Amino acid sequence: MLENDSDLKAIALITSGGDSPGMNAAVRAVVRASVQNGLKVYAAYRGYQGIIDDDFVDLGTHSVSNIIQRGGTILKSARSSEFRTPEGREKAAVNLKKRDIDALVVIGGDGSFTGANIISEEHGINVVGIPATIDNDIIGTDETIGYDTALNTAMDAIDKIRDTADAHERMFLVEVMGRDAGFIALETSIAGGAELALLPEELTNVNEVKALLKNMLQEQKRSSLVVVAEGDETGGALKLAERIKDDFTKYDVKVCILGHIQRGGAPTARDRVLASRLGAAAVKVLLEGHSRIMVGIVNNSLKITPMRVAVSKKKNLDYALVQLAKLLR
Ligand code: ATP
Repeated sequence: MLENDSDLKAIALITSGGDSPGMNAAVRAVVRASVQNGLKVYAAYRGYQGIIDDDFVDLGTHSVSNIIQRGGTILKSARSSEFRTPEGREKAAVNLKKRDIDALVVIGGDGSFTGANIISEEHGINVVGIPATIDNDIIGTDETIGYDTALNTAMDAIDKIRDTADAHERMFLVEVMGRDAGFIALETSIAGGAELALLPEELTNVNEVKALLKNMLQEQKRSSLVVVAEGDETGGALKLAERIKDDFTKYDVKVCILGHIQRGGAPTARDRVLASRLGAAAVKVLLEGHSRIMVGIVNNSLKITPMRVAVSKKKNLDYALVQLAKLLR
């Protein structure tokens, strides 16, 4: 084991907020990079709630064997309302300090980073964030951990739905996750060859949607598939179906909400590699003395972004891709 030159001796690690495939690969990378640098790693179960409840486990190199390929998170994840209170954060800080933990690594989304920033400001704990959410809605990284897997899961489902849509000459409205971000909807619509993608980032005019679909169906198309982002202002696929089905009686409008299957499953190679890079990077930047930052990969290079910046802005869709989806539909 190497000794490091920094003052860091022990870190804590949590997975927090919504789970995403690849969190385990990030846990493994943080643990192994820490051990290689002579750091002790305490992981808390169920995110911030585990720190408050003093529910820690020591992790070593072998405790993270055989997890890189698993979805979910071996540390469990949770949303902790107690951590939103100063009293809850005080309890958490006491539990960290009694173990001489100098730094906290948070694998999660923007809400988790907001919490990390606050406990750092209040109690002087060093914090680093690793962006993991299927929504891909965090600035400072081209992709978040779990996004690629969710995208591929949604694309596989769309391929299957298209087979049955085609066989029965039906119209399918497929709702995908992403909360108020349209990344999954946009890229699955391109990858799955959908007729339309309804995105939260663009105003949806239902009359225009009807007209577009009618036009397409009058041409050679005998079935159609519309990807609807869960955060689209129409209110999602079920509500949209109610509004358009009477105009398409011939096509038997069907709704399929993909839901939580997009959260699970083995991470793709790309997510495992991203998680491995970001996990190791988090340890590196802590050893270099950084705090209140998030690590990301932009244009294939490590980028660090202050947490307060990472949580203050919404990541924009690539509008060239929006145009591409329209060109190719
Ligand atoms: P996802 O994007 O997948 O939903 P997330 O990290 O944004 O993940 P949240 O539920 O928003 O998920 O946040 C996770 C946890 O972070 C919360 O349950 C809470 O404990 C903590 N947290 C979020 N916002 C704050 C805040 N303003 N103050 C203190 N803690 C917070």
